[in-house]
Amino acid sequence: MGSIPGNAAVLFNGKDLSNWRTRGGDPAGWDVTDGVITVTGGAGGDIVTDQKFADFVLHLEWMEPDMPEATGQGKGNSGVFLQGRYEVQVLDSYGIEVPGKGDCGAIYDQFAPLVNACKPPLEWQTYDIAFRGACLNDSGEVMNQARVTVVQNDIVIHNNIEMLGVTGGAMDEEVGEPGPILLQDHGNLIKYRNIWILPLPLKGSDVY
Ligand code: MG
Repeated sequence: MGSIPGNAAVLFNGKDLSNWRTRGGDPAGWDVTDGVITVTGGAGGDIVTDQKFADFVLHLEWMEPDMPEATGQGKGNSGVFLQGRYEVQVLDSYGIEVPGKGDCGAIYDQFAPLVNACKPPLEWQTYDIAFRGACLNDSGEVMNQARVTVVQNDIVIHNNIEMLGVTGGAMDEEVGEPGPILLQDHGNLIKYRNIWILPLPLKGSDVY
């Protein structure tokens, strides 16, 4: 998925964060320089798209800072929350032989990535994420939780898994409703660029 599909929505235009807000609805305060967003702690925290999405394919690129003294959850932590509810972890997990449920690529505290696909800090990495929202019946009961396939740096790290529910730090638990894309401010200077989303129809036609 190197090029942007013509019907995709560009979530970051390379210039400003005009279509992003803080969780509280204030203007997003992260730094934008030369087409790159940098998570800047203390400037309003997490940022959230104005638009909400049901099913979609999301592409984004990020770069870890070099933090050789840091460890664990303090080493280049950020995250991509799908529908504002499900965190795909962003962390410097380069070189970890068996990544766990808190490491980069994990569905946070639910599913570890199948393999460690991480590049070293200071190299650009990609996520291509196919997401299907939770399905509810007419009574509002969850029939199927949200499903996700995650490709990191062209390597499949989650293969159509079903979430256990929302992850910690979710904006709400209104699964079945559309939700925004949220980028997490965990106080580390992660960089993001080239963020686009392709909304998907909920189903195809019945025509044979
Ligand atoms: Mg995180």
